Amino acid sequence: MRSKSPWPLSPAVTVYAAPARFPEVDQPAYAIYLIPSPAPELPACLACGTCCFSRLDTFVRVSGDDYARLAERADSLVRFDGNRAYMRMSDGHCSALVIDPHSEQFVCGVYATRPQLCRELARGSGACLAERDAKADRPLQARNRAKV
Ligand code: SF4
Ligand code: SF4
Repeated sequence: MRSKSPWPLSPAVTVYAAPARFPEVDQPAYAIYLIPSPAPELPACLACGTCCFSRLDTFVRVSGDDYARLAERADSLVRFDGNRAYMRMSDGHCSALVIDPHSEQFVCGVYATRPQLCRELARGSGACLAERDAKADRPLQARNRAKV
């Protein structure tokens, strides 16, 4: 959901109320983000990769259906924390993300079978812009590390 600020904030700011992408609670959660207006232009997802990055080990929740869809990749890509499952993280990003230093692209290695949470994050949505606003520098740093 994207909404203009109902409050007399600077007109240079847009308020986004976006579903928390990977809530650590069982209840639906929303986060409020302040994004510069107009929203900055987005790169193609393959040139971005930002929403696959996090320092949390519990970033991408994996449901039973997600686990089944990952099939033979599930054991290597999913970790369990109690009775919950999450995509493994590696070097600050989901371990399914492939960073190609030659094409400089960020490719989901399980795109066709990725978890539902990843499917729900729409490019250009408030959640996408919030991800970009918070950590767009991280994939670029990781790509530079991959080039070395
Ligand atoms: S959905 Fe948004 S944050 Fe994610 S890769 Fe695409 S442009 Fe980047
Ligand atoms: S499963 Fe794919 S889209 Fe989802 S966080 Fe991992 S690399 Fe990104």
